Amino acid sequence: MRVLAIGCHPDDAEFGCFGTLARCVARGDEVFVCGVTNGSGGSMTLEPDEIAAIRVKEAEAAAKVIGAKEYFNLGVYDLHVDSNDRAVTDKLVDIIRYTKPDMIFTQYYEDYMRDHTETSLLAFNASFIASIPNYKTKYPVHEVVPAIFYMQANGTTSFRPTEYVDITDTIDLKTKALQCHESQYGWLSAHQGVDGFAGNRAANFSLGKLCGTEYAECFCRCMMTQRVNTYRMLPEGR
Ligand SMILES: [Zn+2]
Repeated sequence: MRVLAIGCHPDDAEFGCFGTLARCVARGDEVFVCGVTNGSGGSMTLEPDEIAAIRVKEAEAAAKVIGAKEYFNLGVYDLHVDSNDRAVTDKLVDIIRYTKPDMIFTQYYEDYMRDHTETSLLAFNASFIASIPNYKTKYPVHEVVPAIFYMQANGTTSFRPTEYVDITDTIDLKTKALQCHESQYGWLSAHQGVDGFAGNRAANFSLGKLCGTEYAECFCRCMMTQRVNTYRMLPEGR
């Protein structure tokens, strides 16, 4: 299986699906990670380009921790994600055509932040466009319209999971990947008053209780035509 995670800000895919991605790597999948923004907003003290350079490096390191093959970043500035931006759409179409995913993890389409909801639309649109031969970009068409699994959105009560993945074996690796985002530990505490890393572990523990395991991540599957199939794509339970 080929897998592409499209997270909005550096650290979003990490929080939402890195335990599952690490399990995908363990079963032999080829895993790729793409960030849409460069994280330019995530500092109380550094200028946008200064913090962006740090955050993209942190995200690259995090992807390496779980054994992803490659990390990409679309370079959009925080708070500027626009699913109608054709140049950004084309960049993502080419990443999809290059990585050829069978399934995509991305943001849920309702959330507290516009960047997240726009990323969701961008991933949905680009992954359909990538299959259209007459839509010309650098790379040739990807013949599969990939399945989409939306990551849990913490900023809304409308998110209803349809799938759970046991990440008991990979929670430590996920935590290690999250810890690569050193700059965000301070930012999350200073701006949002939360210990993001410990909070995520606790959230995965609570999800585990819901599905009879120690730690879990959850997803809501996109049920549109061509996005569904007759077999389970996510890693199986133990
Ligand atoms: Zn985010």
